[in-house]
Amino acid sequence: MADGHKDIWVVVEHSGDVPLDVTYEMLEDARKLADSKRHKVCALVLGGSALPDFSQQLAEHGADNVFIGRHKLLSTYTGEPFVQALTSLCGEMLPATVILAATPNGQDLAARLAACLDVGLVSSCLQFAIGSDKNVLGVKATYGEKIYSSMACSGKRPHLFTFKPGSAGVGPANKLRSAAVTELSSLSLNTGAIATRTLAFITADPRTVDLSEADMIVGGGAGVGNKDMFGVIQELADVLGASVGGTRPAVDQGWIPHERQIGQTGKIVSPRLYIAAGISGASLHAMGIKNSEYIVALNTDGNAPIFKLAHLSAVGDLGEIVPLLVEKIRDYRKKKPMNASWS
Ligand SMILES: Cc1cc2nc3c(=O)[nH]c(=O)nc-3n(C[C@H](O)[C@H](O)[C@H](O)COP(=O)(O)OP(=O)(O)OC[C@H]3O[C@@H](n4cnc5c(N)ncnc54)[C@H](O)[C@@H]3O)c2cc1C
Repeated sequence: MADGHKDIWVVVEHSGDVPLDVTYEMLEDARKLADSKRHKVCALVLGGSALPDFSQQLAEHGADNVFIGRHKLLSTYTGEPFVQALTSLCGEMLPATVILAATPNGQDLAARLAACLDVGLVSSCLQFAIGSDKNVLGVKATYGEKIYSSMACSGKRPHLFTFKPGSAGVGPANKLRSAAVTELSSLSLNTGAIATRTLAFITADPRTVDLSEADMIVGGGAGVGNKDMFGVIQELADVLGASVGGTRPAVDQGWIPHERQIGQTGKIVSPRLYIAAGISGASLHAMGIKNSEYIVALNTDGNAPIFKLAHLSAVGDLGEIVPLLVEKIRDYRKKKPMNASWS
């Protein structure tokens, strides 16, 4: 490229120990773009000194190069040190395109980076394409997913994009691939310019967290039948570390409070897991759950509309299925205790 910018960078989103699935999705999409632009895919891993090396996994999903930047201020995410590191690396190494995850941290970092570099950002892309001018296009849903638009950045590089987790799904690893790994020893941060520090993390209580922020939700509907049975729904939520929500009939019956209603006149939710128990899947409820990453439906009626939305369906009586699920998850948790993640 005439301005010296080249290659596609993917900023690796990880839990500290392992890359998150969205990282693999981004690498695989970047791979397709890079092949058609004759660019390399570079995975940038930022973290603290204890960060394990997961370069091989990154290579197997498409990275040609892995750049690892370590600093004590990068061991947990806060905007200032991360944007400082990324701004200086972009200035030195001149990537043409940078893709970050459209997660809370990724969106925060992308917006800060766009402002610091004074470059364009297309956020929450579902996929990427190459435009007629050979620039990367981000395809995103607009107007409540009624239309899809392709958007490109113009002007200065790098061009920034964020990618919505779960949009593509993770493909199989190619065990034959390998990557050149570079430890960025020169990574130094101006600690004096960093005004904020993370002091502690306070985990939200799933019983009280706002449903629109909940990571996992067990939703109960009219099929739950009575308030006592809602206690069993709560038990399932507790063993999972999930929040409880439900349909309007569940609210009307007084089984759950109004702020726990999901749907057109309730909350719009986007958890990683939504379990719909005794819920028919009427459109006014369905529109509140359609952004869920994975939907499990339990219903006695095999023709219930909820099964059209569900990724996993069980036809049967929730009075039998839910206590069994609680027991199985408890057994599993004895072997693998619950932490911040459900994996
Ligand atoms: C203006 C307006 C706004 C609305 N807003 C909302 C809203 O925001 N949110 C919302 O949810 N609804 C809303 N509704 C109501 C909505 O139209 C549906 O009536 C409601 O979503 C249906 O709730 P449900 O699935 O719990 O009940 P139902 O449709 O009665 O379904 C119950 C399901 O449970 C199954 N079932 C029964 N027994 C069992 C069992 N033992 N085990 C397993 N499955 C069983 C049945 O097969 C059935 O599919 C609104 C309605 C109006 C008019």
